[in-house]
Amino acid sequence: MIVSRNPYNGQEVASIKEFSKKDIDSALEAANERYQSWKHTSLSERAKLMMAAAKELKKNKQEYAETITLEMGKPITQSIAEVEKCAWVCEYYAENAEQFLAKEMINTDARKSYTSFEPIGIVLAVMPWNYPFWQVFRFAAPALMAGNIGVLKHASNVMQSANNIQKIFERAGFPKACFQNLPIGSKQVEDIIRDPRIKAVTLTGSKPAGSAVASVAAEEIKKSVLELGGSNALVVFKDANIKKTVDICVQARFQNTGQSCIAGKRLLLHDSIAEEFLELFSKKVRELKSGDPMDKETYIGVLAREDLAEDLEKQVEASVKQGAKIHLGGVRNGTYYEPTIITGVTKEMTVFKEETFGPVISVTTFKDEKEAVELVNFSDFGLGVSVFTEDLEFAEKICPEFDDGAVFINELVKSDPRLPFGGTKISGYGRELSIHGIREFVNKKTVYIS
Ligand code: NDP
Repeated sequence: MIVSRNPYNGQEVASIKEFSKKDIDSALEAANERYQSWKHTSLSERAKLMMAAAKELKKNKQEYAETITLEMGKPITQSIAEVEKCAWVCEYYAENAEQFLAKEMINTDARKSYTSFEPIGIVLAVMPWNYPFWQVFRFAAPALMAGNIGVLKHASNVMQSANNIQKIFERAGFPKACFQNLPIGSKQVEDIIRDPRIKAVTLTGSKPAGSAVASVAAEEIKKSVLELGGSNALVVFKDANIKKTVDICVQARFQNTGQSCIAGKRLLLHDSIAEEFLELFSKKVRELKSGDPMDKETYIGVLAREDLAEDLEKQVEASVKQGAKIHLGGVRNGTYYEPTIITGVTKEMTVFKEETFGPVISVTTFKDEKEAVELVNFSDFGLGVSVFTEDLEFAEKICPEFDDGAVFINELVKSDPRLPFGGTKISGYGRELSIHGIREFVNKKTVYIS
């Protein structure tokens, strides 16, 4: 059995029977059979179904959101927002897939030559618990619209949400086995990747999980996309609008109780404004309401599992030993970790070097633009960076200096169906969302007519 427990009170939420090898084989067989017809459906037929999925998400958002909150402790208002965003990505690909997958005519010496974008088959998605719906939908919407079939290995602590996602596609009217949840542990993933019916794999999660999955895929010469988290910097220059920037930075770090790959984890402040900024920032962080994730007023819930809270506690303790100071918070109680600000952080310290997956922000000061860029790029991660300045010309000028997959000016790094999403360095490779996401799992076929 795979059991999910409410991290807020320890109560069991769901207990789901794990698939045996035989069950997995039947699921893959059904997926394979479905692919033979699904790949020939028209874009308009797929779009109609995807719009129905969006409708279903919106109609029953409360039900789906409650399960998310019960399984992983996300405050309920944020769970509802997550479900609504999933409806958006479904609508976005329903409306745009045809254009994204249209043949690209290329002038050569042929009578006619072009690239067509064709489906590849069954794609396995290995997904995490932090956005149990969003991480899956941002894969599934483009994959299904491209004519592929999806099979999901979701994180073990959100299996009821995983089942709900399959149910949503079924309720929307998608033919059976277009999208299936496989209730399995991570040990069964290797065999599935090696199965000839699986053509590619995408994973969102930690570096060890990504590395394990991508190694097997590489051995089998199968395409992989990895989205492995980050340690985004929030860089505040001296001419930034302090009040506005404080609000954005609080949200960037503390939404989803800090459990986001694109959260701003390293606050980098120009020397001259550091004191003023920190005072305002601390005041706002103190005001964040912690509590029962099911309560609409709650902004800070609990972490999804106690081991994750313990890991965070260890990272903070190690950094304090290395010379950092706890400016605010720093106390753990079971799965709850107080919103925490750590100052005096240098680039050698644990909270600077590692990804902190919870409500902890590190503060480091810099003297000039050169030092700011060095600090941002010092990280092994490369998902995104936020730059705050009123000088937009300067901001655009320094964009190319950053190694990251995204630079947001005067805004937190966020995922948006219209924009490509993905990282560099150990944050992974490949892109999700936008035209780039839907073109990851397609055969870009060259056609040449002499
Ligand atoms: P994992 O990376 O272990 O889990 C993510 C997914 O990968 C889950 O479905 C998990 O299954 C699966 N998985 C884990 N190991 C393997 C493997 N060897 N082979 C195949 N599949 C595997 O994340 P954790 O939940 O342990 O979180 C640890 C850290 O990872 C966090 O603190 C954070 O730093 C990072 N993380 C980043 C995320 C992001 O958005 N990029 C999201 C979640 C975590 P199962 O649950 O059954 O183990």
